Amino acid sequence: MSCQPLLEVKALTKHFATTSGFWGKTKTVRAVDGVDLTIYEGETVSLVGESGCGKSTTGRCLTRLIEPTAGEVWFQGKNILTLSPEEMRQMRRDVQFVFQDPFASLNPRKTIAQILMDPLIVHGIGTPAERRKKVEEMIEIVGLTTKHLDRYPHEFSGGQRQRIGIARALILRPKLIVADEPVSALDVSIQAQVLNLMQDLQRDFKLTYLFISHDLSVVKHISDRVAVMYLGKVVEVAEKGALYRAPKHPYTKALLSAVPVANPDAVRERILLEGDLPSPSNPPSGCTFHPRCPSCMDICRTTTPTLKITDEGHYVSCHL
Ligand code: SF4
Repeated sequence: MSCQPLLEVKALTKHFATTSGFWGKTKTVRAVDGVDLTIYEGETVSLVGESGCGKSTTGRCLTRLIEPTAGEVWFQGKNILTLSPEEMRQMRRDVQFVFQDPFASLNPRKTIAQILMDPLIVHGIGTPAERRKKVEEMIEIVGLTTKHLDRYPHEFSGGQRQRIGIARALILRPKLIVADEPVSALDVSIQAQVLNLMQDLQRDFKLTYLFISHDLSVVKHISDRVAVMYLGKVVEVAEKGALYRAPKHPYTKALLSAVPVANPDAVRERILLEGDLPSPSNPPSGCTFHPRCPSCMDICRTTTPTLKITDEGHYVSCHL
């Protein structure tokens, strides 16, 4: 892992306007509310949190699959939110996305060869023969064979389809892959195979990953650093070892207390959070976690904490 940032996200914000009720009252949903995140070359940063915390929207905004409301995303010295469509097309070679549901993300009317060929055609790479050669190499790199190339997505298992999704992301030889819950739709045994494949590919192709997941067991397997999100904000960032050994934010502590441990004799106190994730259209005042926080103080109800460094490389957003 290099100490050179590959991606720097500053105050990334995505608000959606929704209308509800008989009078069509407009509300603002603060799906992503000022996310700061740095990802260094060659590392895997995981973005974790409950469903609805804004982690997938963050991933989509920083690859411009959806347009953010505000903020900056610096990739190799350029703010990609200000790039022209042509510059953005170039950038897409370097930043690729792997989706949660490989079946929904693969065109059912195209063969695997066509699916893998499309990015090469769009970016004008190689002659038809060269493209075919690249596709044949790539399908073998992800653990399938050339005889699979003339089949259609429905002829594959979930794990195989995710391998194809990874091959499609990798065919342009990107630098950064944003993987949104890439294994959560798979059986546990298949999850391990796909995670191992992703780690092998990271080493072989010098890839950097942003890995989005709600599953802290999976994240522990693959991450170098972990960023925890709550209601549109990053509340804690640390190296994996430090975060799992000594989490500092009460929300991270609660999340980790629910992760199963391998040792049946290990005693761990489960921290149960009260209530559900509040609505991002009406976030609580002050620290947005305060209605559920077992350590809430008066200041937490009125003053929003900011992400501050506590130990080397360990950032926490909390008044404690
Ligand atoms: Fe809990 Fe207060 Fe820290 Fe928020 S700022 S996590 S409410 S202690």
